[in-house]
Amino acid sequence: MTNILKSYVLGHWVTPTTGLADIASAIDGRVVARVSSAGLDFAAMVDYARNTGGPALRALTFHERADILKAVASYVGERKERLYALAADTGATKRDNMVDIDGGLGTVFAYASRGRKELPSEKFIVEGLAESLSKTGNFAAIHILTPLQGVAVQINAFNFPCWGTLEKFAPAFLAGVPVITKPASATAYVTEALVDLMIESGLLPPGSLQLICGGTGDLLDHLTGQDVVGFTGSIETSGKLRNHPAISRNAVRFVAERDSLNSAVLGPDAVASTPEFELFVREVVQEMTVKAGQKCTAIRRIFVPREQEAAIAEALKARLATIKIGDPRIEGVRMGALVSQAQRASVRETIALIATEAEIIFGDPMTAEVIGGDVASGAFIQPILLRCGRPLEASVVHSAEAFGPVATLMPYDSLDEVITLVAKGEGSLVASLFTYDPEVADKVIFGIASYHGRLLVIDRDSASGSTGHGSPLPGLVHGGPGRAGGGEELGGLRGVYHFMQRTAVQGGPGRLAALTRQYVKGAPTPATPTHPFTRGYEDLHPGETIETPSRVISLEDIEHFAHFTGDTFYAHMDEAAARANPFFPGRVAHGYLILSFAAGLFVDPAPGPLLANYGLDNLRFLKPVSPGDTIRVRLTVKHKRAARQPQYGEVRWDVEVFNQNDETVAVYELLTMSARKPV
Ligand code: NAP
Repeated sequence: MTNILKSYVLGHWVTPTTGLADIASAIDGRVVARVSSAGLDFAAMVDYARNTGGPALRALTFHERADILKAVASYVGERKERLYALAADTGATKRDNMVDIDGGLGTVFAYASRGRKELPSEKFIVEGLAESLSKTGNFAAIHILTPLQGVAVQINAFNFPCWGTLEKFAPAFLAGVPVITKPASATAYVTEALVDLMIESGLLPPGSLQLICGGTGDLLDHLTGQDVVGFTGSIETSGKLRNHPAISRNAVRFVAERDSLNSAVLGPDAVASTPEFELFVREVVQEMTVKAGQKCTAIRRIFVPREQEAAIAEALKARLATIKIGDPRIEGVRMGALVSQAQRASVRETIALIATEAEIIFGDPMTAEVIGGDVASGAFIQPILLRCGRPLEASVVHSAEAFGPVATLMPYDSLDEVITLVAKGEGSLVASLFTYDPEVADKVIFGIASYHGRLLVIDRDSASGSTGHGSPLPGLVHGGPGRAGGGEELGGLRGVYHFMQRTAVQGGPGRLAALTRQYVKGAPTPATPTHPFTRGYEDLHPGETIETPSRVISLEDIEHFAHFTGDTFYAHMDEAAARANPFFPGRVAHGYLILSFAAGLFVDPAPGPLLANYGLDNLRFLKPVSPGDTIRVRLTVKHKRAARQPQYGEVRWDVEVFNQNDETVAVYELLTMSARKPV
C-alpha cells in the first residue's frame, strides 16, 4: 500500500484524501509515497502555534527547553534506523544519511548543550552591560532579548530532510518560538517519519511543532511581524516568498539560504608535489560527489593557478573515474542518485547552459553506468567536470548552479584576479583556500571574506582536523550574502537570537535590577545581614553587598610578593625604571597582589556553602596602587544561574576595589559555585 503522507496539525495527524501527487524513488522510480496538503486550515495552524505552542514554550526556561531538546534527540537517535531505511530511496548513501540524520540530531544536541551552558535559567536574556544615561547615575538602560510571540515557519529544500528540519527547529524551540515545518515534497516521507518520532516521544509541549506535507496554501497570508520565515531552496522560490505581500507589508523576518556558487582556491604555492595540492584534489572530489552534489555548500567553482591547471585536471579526472555510482544500499557504491528525474532534467539543463561558456572535460550528463538501481527509471547521473578557460569574461559559470555532481575548473593568473573571480559568484555560503603561504592566506581571505558566510584555510598542518568544506556546524554561522540569500542560521546562540526581539529598556538602576534579576550599577545595595559566603545559593539576593575593612599595602608586602611568586618585574622593584614608565608614579603593587589582598579582605574562611571559585571575568586594573596606599573592597551579588547539576548554582559577584581616596583601582566579576538546598 502506498504511503500517504500525513501532516501534523493542531495536535493531530491528518491524512489527505484529495490532490495527491506521487513521490518516486530516486533509485528505481517506483512510487514510495503520495503527498498533498489539500484541506488543511493554515490559519488555524498559525493560531494554534501562537496561542497554544507559544505560551507553552514561553512558560519554560531556556534550561527546561534545552532539556527537552536533548531528550527528544535521544529518543529519535535510539530509533534512527527507521529514518535510514526510508532515506535510501532519496538516492542518499549511508554516508550521506549520516550527515543528514546523525548530523541533524547532533545539531539538536549541540543546541541543548549551549542552552544549558550559555543561557540563563530564565525566560529572557540580558545582553551586555547596563549603560548609564544620566550624570547622577539615576537613569540607565539595558538590552534584553525576549522570544517573539509568533510562529517560525520553516520551509526546507529536498536535500537534507532531517538536518534541514532539525537545524532550523532547534534554535527556534530553544528561543521559545513554536515551529510549523514544511519539507520539500520530494523527500517529505523522511521528514514525516522524523516528526512522527519527535511527536511520539511525548516530550514536546502542545503546539510547539506542526508539520505540513505538501504545499503551504495561504499560510503566509497570516504572518505578522512576530513571525519568522526560514527558507532553504532555490533563488526563484526565495524571491517569490520574500516578495509575498504579507511578508513585505508586515516586515516578517525572512531568513533565506539559497543558490550558492561556492569556490575552492588552490594557492600559487600549492604545486603538484605539495600536500596542499593533494588535499585540494581530495576535497573537490568529495564535495562534488557527497549527496551526488546536492548540497548547498558543494564546491561549484574550482580556481587554480594557470600553471597548475593541467595537473589538477588530470588528478581530478583520475579520482572521479573511481567513483562507483548506483543503489546506495549496495556495498562499494560511493555516489547514489539525484533526488528525482525532474531534478536530473534540471541539472542537465544547467550543465548545457554552463557549457555555453565551458567545455565538459569529464563525464557525460546523458549516460551513467550504475551498480544496482534502475538506470532507466532512477535518477542517476555521472560526475561532470567542466573547464572554462576565460573565467573573467564569463558570467554563467559564476551564476548558474547545477544542483548535482557538477563543477567547473578555471585558471587564474594572479591573486587579485582570483579574488575578483571568487567575488563574481555575488555572495556564497563557503569557500576553501588551500595554501601553506601566510601571505597568500592573508591576501585571499581578507579579499573574499565579505562575500562569504564561512571560509576554510586548509594546509598540511590542519588538514587532519578539518571538519570539511561542506559541513555547516552548529557553532558556526551558516549562510552567506547576496546570491546565497543574505541569511544567517546556526552560529551558536546567534541562531537563537533570530527568534527573539532585542529591546532597550530604560529606567532607574533599581528598576532595571529588579526586572533583570541582576545587580545593575547604581541600584540599591542593601548590606547583607550575614556574610554572603555563609549562605547557600537560594539565600543570596542580587544587590546584597558587603563593604570590607581596609588594609595598607606596604613596600615589604610588594617585595615579599615579588620574591614569593618570582614576579620581580621592574615596575614593582626598581623605582627609577618605574618612574620612567609613563603609566606609573614609581614602584607599584602587582595587580595580582591587589587581587590576592582583596580576596583576603572579603572571604569568610570557615567551611560553608560556597564551594569553589572558578574564575574572574572582565578584570581591569584602573589605577596604580603605590606603597603606603590603603585598599578596601565592595562585594555585591550580581547574578545567579542554576548549574547543570542540581546540587550547585553559579553566583557572579561584582567586585570593586577602592583606594584611600575612594577611587576605583580594580573591578572584576568573581565566579563561584554555591551549594543548593537538596530537592
Ligand atoms: P525549491 O524548489 O525552491 O523548494 C524549496 C522549498 O520551497 C520546498 O519545500 C518547496 O516545496 C517550497 N516551495 C516551493 N514553492 C513554494 C511556494 N510558492 N510557497 C511556499 N513554498 C514553496 O528548492 P529545492 O528544489 O527543494 O532545492 C534545490 C535548491 O535549493 C537549489 O537551488 C539549491 O541551491 C538550494 N539549496 C540551498 C541551500 C542553502 O543552504 N543555501 C541548501 C539546500 C538547497 P515543494 O517541494 O513542496 O515544492
